[in-house]
Amino acid sequence: MKIVIADDLDEIARRKFEKLGDLVYKPTNLHLAVQDADVLVVRSTTKVDERVLDAAKRLKVVARAGVGLDNIDVLACERGGIKVIDAAGATTSSVAELTIGLIILMLRKVLTAHDFAKQKIWKRNELIGNELRGKTLGIVGLGRIGSEVARIAKSMNIKVIAYDPYVKDSENARLVTLDELLRNSDVVSIHAMLTSQTVGMINSESIGKMKDGVYLVNTSRGALIDEEALYAALKSGKIKAAALDVLAQQPYDGKLLECDNVIITSHIGANTAEAQERISDELINKLKIILK
Ligand code: NAD
Repeated sequence: MKIVIADDLDEIARRKFEKLGDLVYKPTNLHLAVQDADVLVVRSTTKVDERVLDAAKRLKVVARAGVGLDNIDVLACERGGIKVIDAAGATTSSVAELTIGLIILMLRKVLTAHDFAKQKIWKRNELIGNELRGKTLGIVGLGRIGSEVARIAKSMNIKVIAYDPYVKDSENARLVTLDELLRNSDVVSIHAMLTSQTVGMINSESIGKMKDGVYLVNTSRGALIDEEALYAALKSGKIKAAALDVLAQQPYDGKLLECDNVIITSHIGANTAEAQERISDELINKLKIILK
């Protein structure tokens, strides 16, 4: 069996895949490498589109090492009899913990304090932040990650409200309409999946409904936010600060980098040793069942 891993995957995970068959890791020419591949493993970078699928003459499985199938043409896979599997759930706690971490870094201006300290500048009075206790956190998309963020936030005495058209009740969040969420949240955290309905859902209109001086965090998908609208809101102070682990274009070199009130991380939500181990274990178990 030939397995092609198209995106970065940690070494321990790679070694596990190696035990299943012949491994090709990050080929320079993907179209060539997939020609005789049985399994194609991707994270979020490689687009598995019609061209890749046409080149792959004996592909049986596309394995998404993580969650979110927006980079895979699932319908084209189905038409070609190719199974698509993912490791949904394996990354939940890693992404949820990063989300809470980013919110605190942002509210407490930790990175600015760190930058000053590195330059041997000891500033304190300019670095007054906000605490989270008693604030309202609005979660857009109450799936696995959104729910885990809600659970952690509730334990920190944060008021949690959430909008998700497909969720009817929750232990840790009060479900509200999107309008209510935008108008009442001190911090808005995006966890909805990327679909044709959610693309650009955070735009100038929705930002206009938010509280003045709101904080925004996105660890879901960059394309959920209209970047121009976010840039304008960060410049005007409508949005006090934003923390973004995901951008519509990655690697990112756009104008949000100019803003002092934005934290940008390089899509590291699932990058923990624990999540990577769970992902590879889950995918390999599924592959063994499918390909036996
Ligand atoms: P999930 O499928 O469990 O949850 C997504 C939720 O979005 C669902 O509950 C769904 O009902 C909801 N939703 C759909 N349409 C909506 C809409 N119009 N408005 C509001 N909510 C809507 O997925 P998950 O595992 O919780 O992952 C959430 C997101 O995080 C995904 O986009 C995934 O790609 C992303 N993710 C990012 C990283 C990272 O490294 N930053 C890692 C893993 C997952």
